[in-house]
Amino acid sequence: KDAMPRKPEWLRVRMGSNTEVKRIKAKLREHKLASVCEEASCPNLGECFSHGTATFMIMGDICTRRCPFCDVAHGRPNALAEDEPRELAEAITDMGLKYVVITSVDRDDLRDGGAQHFANCIRETRERSASIQIETLVPDFRGRMDIALEILSQTPPDVFNHNLETVPRLYRQVRPGADYAWSLELLKGFKALRPEIRTKSGLMVGVGETNEEIVEVLKDLRAHNVDMVTIGQYLQPSRDHLPVDRFVTPDEFAEFERVARELGFSHVASGPLVRSSYHADLQAKGEKVG
Ligand code: SF4
Ligand code: SF4
Repeated sequence: KDAMPRKPEWLRVRMGSNTEVKRIKAKLREHKLASVCEEASCPNLGECFSHGTATFMIMGDICTRRCPFCDVAHGRPNALAEDEPRELAEAITDMGLKYVVITSVDRDDLRDGGAQHFANCIRETRERSASIQIETLVPDFRGRMDIALEILSQTPPDVFNHNLETVPRLYRQVRPGADYAWSLELLKGFKALRPEIRTKSGLMVGVGETNEEIVEVLKDLRAHNVDMVTIGQYLQPSRDHLPVDRFVTPDEFAEFERVARELGFSHVASGPLVRSSYHADLQAKGEKVG
């Protein structure tokens, strides 16, 4: 197979490490907890940990889907760990995090897609840390939307995030098993049930889409009442994953940001290293990031 292309200058980052980062890493070991930040070697780890932000994946590390851009293992998942919500909440509280993103693999094997497990994690975390901000980055709950929305709207996060990831033309290739219209309906459906809670979505670019198609997706998101958006460069986790089609330039990211603001998103993060949860705390406060 071809070697992976060399990254342009704007994608290279230093991994800073300060006391706060070390402290959080030590706590993660102590609680035997894995963060997406470390597992994915996220380039923003230093910044996020020092801000008291981290992302955790619940419901195991085996996904029932197989997206070619994603590094998560696929197969038959393990049974749900009943004590996970309490243990996660205790760890989050002990770490003193201010903003936590809770995400999961797809659990097409569960009747509610895992919605109740998400709700349990939120409830247990809020019981222990009253001031914490919680963002959930949820799977699409395909085929289970009504029950999932009912459960999630009763124990809502502070930000309800579901990523579209790419443009509709590339869904079959990039998000097999997912459906563009369905994902938009999920976001709209949650907003209709809890209008006071912000909804958010994200795109990874550089997988074969055009800039015009990205703008069309931004318009679709606004038409489904989505408040916040993130746009970042796709990076190939290994040579066995979907190849990068192009490196979108910083100027192009700036243009997406301008268009998104014009379309009325309240929060926009658009830049090469932007990830769905990058500066999630600042995004939620409405500060300019990206
Ligand atoms: Fe990865 Fe999510 Fe796709 Fe599963 S559904 S393979 S976790 S991107
Ligand atoms: Fe973790 Fe997300 Fe920050 Fe990366 S951007 S370090 S995954 S919280």
